[in-house]
Amino acid sequence: MTSTRRNLLKSLSASAFVAAATLGISQPMPAVAAPAVTIVATTSMIADAARQVGGERVAVTALMGPGVDPHAYRQTRSDIAAMLRADAVLWHGLYLEAQLEEFLLDLGKRRRVFAVGEAVPRNRLIAHDTYANRFDPHIWMDPSLWQPVVLAVRDALSEIDPDGAKSYAAGAERHLTEIEALNAYAANRLATVPPDQRVLVTAHDAFNYFGHAFDFDVLGIQGISTESEAGLRRIEELVDALVTRGVTAVFVESSVSERNVRALIEGAAARGHAVTIGGELFSDAMGRSGTYEGTYIGMIDHNVTSITRALGGDAPAQGMLGRLAAGS
Ligand SMILES: [Zn+2]
Repeated sequence: MTSTRRNLLKSLSASAFVAAATLGISQPMPAVAAPAVTIVATTSMIADAARQVGGERVAVTALMGPGVDPHAYRQTRSDIAAMLRADAVLWHGLYLEAQLEEFLLDLGKRRRVFAVGEAVPRNRLIAHDTYANRFDPHIWMDPSLWQPVVLAVRDALSEIDPDGAKSYAAGAERHLTEIEALNAYAANRLATVPPDQRVLVTAHDAFNYFGHAFDFDVLGIQGISTESEAGLRRIEELVDALVTRGVTAVFVESSVSERNVRALIEGAAARGHAVTIGGELFSDAMGRSGTYEGTYIGMIDHNVTSITRALGGDAPAQGMLGRLAAGS
């Protein structure tokens, strides 16, 4: 709803209230633009999709804020209360929320629970490195794979609130167009990184879909889950790769400890090869809420722009829309 229309409604209902009060009729003021449904989302990325699609019809709460690691997250007592109160719970699935899965599957027997990450077609999923018959859950790293998730969010909202279906369809349409533009920006900018520099070394393996989509070799110190241990051997292998390929930048992640990345830089330095931190990437959580980086579009714009610039490519410092925080 536009703010003009909202204000108009507000003043209309205010005058109706005044009229009712004058007549001595006791009646509650009608709720103005009150959300029709309440949603709890596990990750901040899914919460953003629900806000983009749902607009003012939907009140969204995210269980995991900035810097929170979904692989290790366990539900708190207030999370459980929020999930039981909500009209629906949207979670990722694909074993991202490993510690929440049992609870969510159980909740799904009694409540409306949607694993929206599972909407990505199986043939586009990458196999998990450690578990047979499981997939790498980090699909948001490829904007073209995030689109089916947005559609799944639209379908979930329409199912629990059929009156809003038209509005959800329009919200999804608008957001898909933004994601389309983001994908084009990512492809164009990342293509400017010299081929021998297209190596992305990160704290954990969150960027396989990114690498697949944009033609980068991705080397994570830890595996797909942050719960796996990074061995000394893995650090040595990566130091080797950095030295041999002449890679000069590695990345830290907002939701993962940077201790291992430091070990890598020290290892390379011991062999006379200088490596710097190319920036902090958002892997499994977005930036602070209320900021551009606290949206899905801003998160990926930040990553794409940081990676491009750190590895010798060409991208504007403020990113696709000129909205990235300075020095981000
Ligand atoms: Zn992860």
